[in-house]
Amino acid sequence: MSIFPTRVVDFFLTYDCNSACPYCFVNQHGLKSSMSSETLEKSIDWIADTAKDEVEIVFIGGEPTLEPDKIEHTVQYATAVGAQKGVKFHFTMTTNFLNMDEALAQKLAAWKVSYLTSVDGYRERHDRSRPPRDKNIQSPFSLLEQRIQILKQYQPRMAARVTSTPFTVNWLSHDLQKLAEMGFGHFIISPATGIRWTDAKLQLYGDELAQFALQRAQKNGKPWPYISPLDDADKGKYQWGCGAGRGRVAISPHGNIHACARFTGMTSGDRLPFGDIHNGITTEDNIIKFQDNSYQSRMECLTCPIREECLGGCPAVNWEETGSLVTPSVNECRMMKTTIAVKRRVHAGNEPSKENRHG
Ligand code: SF4
Ligand code: SF4
Repeated sequence: MSIFPTRVVDFFLTYDCNSACPYCFVNQHGLKSSMSSETLEKSIDWIADTAKDEVEIVFIGGEPTLEPDKIEHTVQYATAVGAQKGVKFHFTMTTNFLNMDEALAQKLAAWKVSYLTSVDGYRERHDRSRPPRDKNIQSPFSLLEQRIQILKQYQPRMAARVTSTPFTVNWLSHDLQKLAEMGFGHFIISPATGIRWTDAKLQLYGDELAQFALQRAQKNGKPWPYISPLDDADKGKYQWGCGAGRGRVAISPHGNIHACARFTGMTSGDRLPFGDIHNGITTEDNIIKFQDNSYQSRMECLTCPIREECLGGCPAVNWEETGSLVTPSVNECRMMKTTIAVKRRVHAGNEPSKENRHG
């Protein structure tokens, strides 16, 4: 079956989180619970049995740093099982940074867990977008500012996932510049989904992103910082879909297997389950739904001007909004068209609008 070999696993050690970000799919659904040691070990066994030579475990949540002992358990158990079964495990994590101190950074470095930090803007934009549940923390951004120099000693290549919203977008270029000055050398930038973007705000998102990208510094003859998706190589024409359900799966705290984290996080409708780590794959029909990557399946895309650069949107968003994995969401298409326009503009070196939009 073609989800195998398993290459990437979104691994939910917990749904719990110390932030309450309004756009987060886990937070929106109020999910709670953590993975037991038994489920953790069975999950790793299943992954090792279905992987080939290498597999990446992505600690996701919820906030994985709420469970440092389980991160350690995963790394140690997976490394031991991988050695027996000839599978090399790699570990990455997305974190909101609130729990990250020198002691944890030191441990993560020893466990070879690299991490990506969620930062949604500079200072008040980040604080507003990512409110902590602990009301004693006045400013999550100040914590990040205080700790980043220490953390950089353990992970010199600092990467940030930046989710822009209509409320923070006016400052996007300014904020990315500030974050670059703090030492972030890699950005993964996207507009928040599940939130209303007017045409004007989406245009502004494109202009702000282009402005920062075009004015970037240079390092070793290349623009710096790196921006995903603008600097990513095109993945190939006339393909469909990300890796969800085709080498990528997610495992929930209860051991349920889905195509990716976003399918796990859905709490209404059919999440297209694949099975669970106790019984293995039980619903092959659902897996088959993810396998058709032919361009011809994407009827709405046939006449789209960016059909050669777009992979057909996010199947999870498509599924939630249109009831079909391959029928794109109108909103996602608007965002994708904006992003592709910026990518073309940056590659052509055109100047964005210079008007001051920070008023
Ligand atoms: S933007 Fe929408 S219609 Fe166009 S190729 Fe992408 S998914 Fe298809
Ligand atoms: S289905 Fe969407 S959320 Fe899931 S891996 Fe693909 S692009 Fe990402």
